[in-house]
Amino acid sequence: MKLEFLKSAASSEGWPQDSWDEVLFVGRSNAGKSSLINALAQRKLAKVSRVPGKTTLLNFFNTDKRFRIVDSPGYGFAKRSGKEVLRWRAMMESYVNNRQNLKGFVLVMDVRREWSEDEQSLFDLSKNGGHFFHVVLTKCDKISKNKYLNISRKLQKQLDTEVYITDSRTGLGVSALRGSVVSYALTKS
Ligand code: GDP
Repeated sequence: MKLEFLKSAASSEGWPQDSWDEVLFVGRSNAGKSSLINALAQRKLAKVSRVPGKTTLLNFFNTDKRFRIVDSPGYGFAKRSGKEVLRWRAMMESYVNNRQNLKGFVLVMDVRREWSEDEQSLFDLSKNGGHFFHVVLTKCDKISKNKYLNISRKLQKQLDTEVYITDSRTGLGVSALRGSVVSYALTKS
């Protein structure tokens, strides 16, 4: 899958004006979201989301399959001020609640972290809008196979959703995820 950076947008005026379907990638800071998107793209994309002071931008990437991946700023940085958290939330809610193009969420999560209120509120936001919601567990090289299989099964059961096991270093699970993102994005609802 080819990925090409299209644009960044701070608010709805900056969203692309067409009907391409979009898959929103969300994740806690440092979860491995950039590494995963690079692995999906099979090349290194610019880390536009890391520009200082630009923590509340959505980054739009066009794929060669005529749908888009939308990268959102990482949440949960302890040093973020309350104001920044509110801005992040407002931007996400505005996008999720108003964007007709949005088809689904991919939540990128470090396999060693617990499912918390932050993840639950993103899950609820997606379900309220009737979107698909997939979980991608990253950094599975950091724990044993038994452990990550257990974590994955538990989450699958708890959320009744698809859970992918990945490791961007070796590429474990990346092609399965790529195939699934493409097929879900292209399924007409
Ligand atoms: P982001 O903040 O979610 O975009 O996270 P990054 O992709 O920048 O990754 C954060 C850190 O985790 C970096 O040091 C990466 O090299 C590391 N990392 C990302 N994915 C993996 C993985 O699958 N395995 C391991 N061991 N490290 C990873």
